[in-house]
Amino acid sequence: MYMDQNKIPKATAKRLPLYYRFLNSLHLQGKTRVSSKELSESVKVDSATIRRDFSYFGALGKKGYGYNVEYLLNFFRKTLDQDEITKVALIGVGNLGTAFLHYNFIKNNNTKIEMAFDTDPGKVDHNIGGVPVYHIDDLEEYIGNVSAAILTVPALAAQPITDRLVDCGIAGILNFTPARIAVPDNIRVHHIDLAIELQSLVYFLKHY
Ligand code: ATP
Repeated sequence: MYMDQNKIPKATAKRLPLYYRFLNSLHLQGKTRVSSKELSESVKVDSATIRRDFSYFGALGKKGYGYNVEYLLNFFRKTLDQDEITKVALIGVGNLGTAFLHYNFIKNNNTKIEMAFDTDPGKVDHNIGGVPVYHIDDLEEYIGNVSAAILTVPALAAQPITDRLVDCGIAGILNFTPARIAVPDNIRVHHIDLAIELQSLVYFLKHY
């Protein structure tokens, strides 16, 4: 199956992990095929969007049969680089950072927090959730071939640390701080502000 990854729209690319997770659970249950309707109800994406998404990578469902789970799963595994572990660093071992170190995305078997950094002498040189914590001053020494970073530092520390991460060759940052960080065009930043998300949920509950 040929696919030029550059041609997948970003919105489709963002849904790939969602599809992958669901197909994986079907596979574990021993299911061999899935209809776009069933997929749609489970991942909460309308079936027209699913059909369009799947058509970008040449997976065309057959009427009355649906999609072949194993075939799709193999495809997603390759596309999402599931066979290759992506090393991640976490910066800021506070409440949120500590929770991530314990969680460590075990269920997503292709990403692993390999190391963490902090300034607090009570945390530096400790292992938290099996992950070594180094002093932020030693970032350049330890970061090696880590390709993504999770930022859970106070907002004021976010930009200077980002600049250093960029200089170290990091490709992507998952930013949990409220700071809007500036990066060169070739670096990808995903911003997750949990406080804003919660606030907007509460607003919707009250007003809609
Ligand atoms: P959280 O915000 O996750 O609930 P917290 O309230 O425990 O954490 P924060 O003040 O937000 O603490 O700091 C998060 C973590 O970031 C702390 O462990 C702190 O020591 C660390 N930290 C602060 N400044 C830096 C920095 N410049 N570099 C690396 N780590 C830092």
